[in-house]
Amino acid sequence: MDGSFRTGRPEPATGQCADPTFRRDVESFLDTALTEELRAAGRVTTGLKSAAEACAVWREKLCERGWFAPTWPIEHGGAGWSTQQRLYFENACAARDAPILQSSGVRTIGPLIIAEGSPEQHARYLPAILSGAHEWCQGFSEPQAGSDLSALTLRAERDGDDFILSGSKLWTSFARYATHMFLLARCDQQSTGGAGLVFLLVEMDRPGITVKPIRFIDGDCETNEVFFDRVRTPVADRIGDIGAGWKAARRLMAIARANNTTTGLLRRALRAAQRGVMARSGEDDPMRTKLASLARQIDEFEAFEMHVSAGRIGVAEAPATSALKLIATELHQTITEAGLEAAADSDFAQAKYFATRAATIYSGTSQVHRNILAQAIGCP
Ligand SMILES: Cc1cc2nc3c(=O)[nH]c(=O)nc-3n(C[C@H](O)[C@H](O)[C@H](O)COP(=O)(O)OP(=O)(O)OC[C@H]3O[C@@H](n4cnc5c(N)ncnc54)[C@H](O)[C@@H]3O)c2cc1C
Repeated sequence: MDGSFRTGRPEPATGQCADPTFRRDVESFLDTALTEELRAAGRVTTGLKSAAEACAVWREKLCERGWFAPTWPIEHGGAGWSTQQRLYFENACAARDAPILQSSGVRTIGPLIIAEGSPEQHARYLPAILSGAHEWCQGFSEPQAGSDLSALTLRAERDGDDFILSGSKLWTSFARYATHMFLLARCDQQSTGGAGLVFLLVEMDRPGITVKPIRFIDGDCETNEVFFDRVRTPVADRIGDIGAGWKAARRLMAIARANNTTTGLLRRALRAAQRGVMARSGEDDPMRTKLASLARQIDEFEAFEMHVSAGRIGVAEAPATSALKLIATELHQTITEAGLEAAADSDFAQAKYFATRAATIYSGTSQVHRNILAQAIGCP
């Protein structure tokens, strides 16, 4: 993303991806690398940690080919692709039921480290994200700080070359699996709001960190409470200046909102719903019309994503990423609702449905994004 809406001629649709060599490379790689076993695993992927073994195999194959981080620059181990190439690749993966890979490192903190980290941080974190050695979680929300994130109170007290962290984070997805957390903490105890914060990169095995899983209605425990009892962490392990953490967090949120629910993910969900309909019905099933309409909405979203996203790193202005996040997550939910309607008894359809419920809450609720968009067009 280049951080702006582009006003020039729109790029061609990904179906007409201009470069035939690129298209051939993608097709031939996928035809060879995606074994029937991997495709079968891709067809049963629901939440982010399902089909874990197949996902690990698929990630390794992508890493070997240099395609695990499609939008990262080549010098940092990414593919260096344009948005058009990324979308072409995502669609080709979806059409073949490739396992879904959701690395928070690749999609969120990696691009921020590339953009704002030091050369030492590039060397320390980026290769480990690509190899899977580092898994990241996001420590922003707290019991009294959700939509109003700048009300956060996790304390970061300076002690020589370290900060000492005290307090807690809430709803931290994957904290149980993560090796690292990027977090926002208050380093100036007199400050309020977005002032006086620091954006820290913290190892999860530091003494004093306790992770307590939160069980959801579907039995899953992907989110957690995380407690910090005088946790010592280096001052140097931060992004941006001390006191300027809010700026880094805003950039991170823009990256996350643009990258978390993509066209490829929507197409996979639609294919799952289509399988449910095919299994049960005849030509005149009204669900077919519904799914055709959803397919058209995905095409429209893809055109929008193409229009908004133009650069390599994935940073765009807030209104654009709010619109992407809002449209994508609500469409994702509608698709998984249709999937459940088509196959109400299917455990898989139920799991897909549950997996998308919270998407309109995390990374900013739909209401909050509607507020941002309303302000952007001048509503009072
Ligand atoms: C499954 C899941 C995973 C999550 N993962 C993470 C994570 O990994 N890391 C992390 O930091 N956080 C995570 N979160 C937290 C998430 O970001 C917050 O839940 C979200 O920001 C909303 O905050 P809240 O829960 O405190 O609700 P509140 O902010 O209290 O909001 C409650 C309701 O009021 C509405 N509301 C609030 N303010 C306004 C307003 N100004 N105008 C209109 N309506 C408003 C909201 O839309 C919502 O409907 C996760 C949440 C969930 C459910």
